[in-house]
Amino acid sequence: MAAIWDLPDFDSHEAVHVFDDLATGLKAVIAVHSTHLGPAAGGTRFWHYGNSQAAITDALRLSRGMSYKNAMAGLSAGGGKAVILADSQHTKPQDMLNAFARAVDSLGGQYITAQDVGMSEADMVSLSKVTPHVAGLPDQGGDPGPYTARGVFLGVQAAVKHVSGADDMTGVHVAIQGVGSVGGGLARYLAAQGAKLTLADVDAQRAADLAAELGGSSVPADAIMGVEADIFSPCALGAILTEASVAALKVRAVAGGANNQLATGPEGQMLADRGILYAPDYVINAGGIINVLRHVENADDAEINRRIDAIPGRLSAIWAQSDSTGMTPAEVADNMAQKLIGR
Ligand code: NAD
Repeated sequence: MAAIWDLPDFDSHEAVHVFDDLATGLKAVIAVHSTHLGPAAGGTRFWHYGNSQAAITDALRLSRGMSYKNAMAGLSAGGGKAVILADSQHTKPQDMLNAFARAVDSLGGQYITAQDVGMSEADMVSLSKVTPHVAGLPDQGGDPGPYTARGVFLGVQAAVKHVSGADDMTGVHVAIQGVGSVGGGLARYLAAQGAKLTLADVDAQRAADLAAELGGSSVPADAIMGVEADIFSPCALGAILTEASVAALKVRAVAGGANNQLATGPEGQMLADRGILYAPDYVINAGGIINVLRHVENADDAEINRRIDAIPGRLSAIWAQSDSTGMTPAEVADNMAQKLIGR
């Protein structure tokens, strides 16, 4: 195994903490990418990894992503992420969770955790009984999905304005991949503004039901990226923009809530080469973290709304700089984020 500094995703992390608690079996990594803007904030993922290097790589990648996301959202928070290495049965005994909470606490607030894949609301509440460094608890604003959905909706509107000059969403055709918390919320906002919807979900019934309710149509999950539309909005999985899928797109812009949409990175250039506008994922989908950190940031509802309302302006600034420099929107966003975190 390579030394941690030599891992491709190390990217000068300020600290990578590895915990191994013999008494409870806890194995966890807390990666702190940057505290330049404030304490490193990002969720805890509970996941079964093939090997420990995969867990460390995941923590590093996600942690850097949180640095960029929090910085571009205008938050006074740095970026970090924790992963707990689950066994293949995903056994999660309480004493192990307590040991993880003590690990978070031992960092003295350098890292603030929140919910991520594999952690339930109840798990987060139990962590908060051991350490105060937990954000986004159910009594602190709850489910981030609706906030993310609103930011994505505003971002889709901005994308439409950028590619067509239109302020009005009437008749604008949006193809949404995944109609869960974010995609479903987005579909409702769009329907209320008269947009035309094509929906898809691996749960085909879910997409069909929502389409029937909102007056749109649904297609099989594997067909959504070939739908001819104005906007493709990925709201399900990451890494869906590959060389092949970008080549198959028949839209003017990609603007959606999923994390890590570009499979390897160069797809950002492929989109630009095809004249397809791209809304960098961590900029458009920041509504959730803006709300999750409301207590850390001491922000009230009006402030949360103001920050989410700033998402389309930020996207427009990225696109303007992309147009004037020839850099892709993803490159422009990364550069802006790096500058904000002093890199
Ligand atoms: P969710 O689980 O509520 O919904 C995801 C939906 O996508 C589900 O209905 C699922 O069946 C569907 N799906 C899964 N694979 C699919 C596929 N291949 N094709 C079509 N549909 C598929 O999740 P969510 O909270 O809505 O999050 C959606 C995406 O947005 C994720 O990538 C998540 O990481 C990202 N995100 C979410 C938030 C948030 O606040 N919830 C914030 C930032 C980013």
